[in-house]
Amino acid sequence: AVKSDGRNNYQFFEKNMQEEAQERISLLSKLRVALENQELSLNYQPQYDSTGTQIIGAEALLRWEHPELGFVSPARFIPLAEDSGLIVPIGEWVLNQACQQAIKIQQTGIPPFVMSVNLSAVQFRKGDLVETVKKALATSGLEPQYLGLELTESLLLKDQKRLLQMLSQLKELGVQLSIDDFGTGYSNLSYLKRFAVDKLKIDQSFVRDMENDTDDYALVTTVIQLAHSLGLEVTAEGVETQQQMQMLAELKCDEFQGYYFAKPMPADEFVLYLQA
Ligand code: C2E
Ligand code: MG
Ligand code: MG
Ligand code: MG
Repeated sequence: AVKSDGRNNYQFFEKNMQEEAQERISLLSKLRVALENQELSLNYQPQYDSTGTQIIGAEALLRWEHPELGFVSPARFIPLAEDSGLIVPIGEWVLNQACQQAIKIQQTGIPPFVMSVNLSAVQFRKGDLVETVKKALATSGLEPQYLGLELTESLLLKDQKRLLQMLSQLKELGVQLSIDDFGTGYSNLSYLKRFAVDKLKIDQSFVRDMENDTDDYALVTTVIQLAHSLGLEVTAEGVETQQQMQMLAELKCDEFQGYYFAKPMPADEFVLYLQA
């Protein structure tokens, strides 16, 4: 009985792998035309200052709505876009779109704030990211201090030399650099000194349980102290409750982002939100 169960499980597993592979191929072929079919859009989520009252930034988050599949989660399509290299043209579109939206918002009379965009490691390896950023700023007319770029920790492990050069070129443009999902990557902290970053974003997985989990609370405390001792600012991601916000404020966290304040929203809704 054990043997046949084992075999059935194996066949079941193999079939799932095959289905999974086919689904990826099918999804990728749809993603290849998503940009030209105008199925991609950006949502914007506000970021608040240390008092939780002033909007000091926004994060642009990519959305894909396929005519038949509906919304596909970034967790599913971003990895596909990265593996296929599609993230390069898509990332360029995101940068342009976010800069243009930032200018549109400024034109409504709302005081300028930092518009942040997520960058994939693939964008640092393929294409000319520095040139792409320069062009997005020039075309939109957005001043560089109002553009933020979010990088992940894993990026900072490979291609040290080239990366260091690219990051300092980006820094020279005058844009702001943040490390996203901080704490989930590798614990080599020496890069924080070497790379000219401005900000750490504490991963939401630590914020989520910080009220109950003493380890998570300790981690959040340590990250904030570390950042401040290096002269960096800290943003807490995934703030969902008032208690989390209060605990973070006591720890002198500089900025907040999360559902407690607002969910990511489409451009027009975001402008109304800012005006209200
Ligand atoms: P991220 O950059 O860490 O973005 C934060 C994610 O947390 C977003 O998920 C956001 O909707 C979600 N979030 C914000 N506040 C809360 C909260 O209070 N609770 C919970 N549970 N979640 C919250 P989203 O939009 O699904 O994006 C997932 C990831 O996909 C992003 O994580 C980022 O790594 C990637 N991504 C999104 N847009 C882009 C893009 O334009 N380019 C690249 N390369 N990656 C992107
Ligand atoms: Mg991000
Ligand atoms: Mg994050
Ligand atoms: Mg993330």
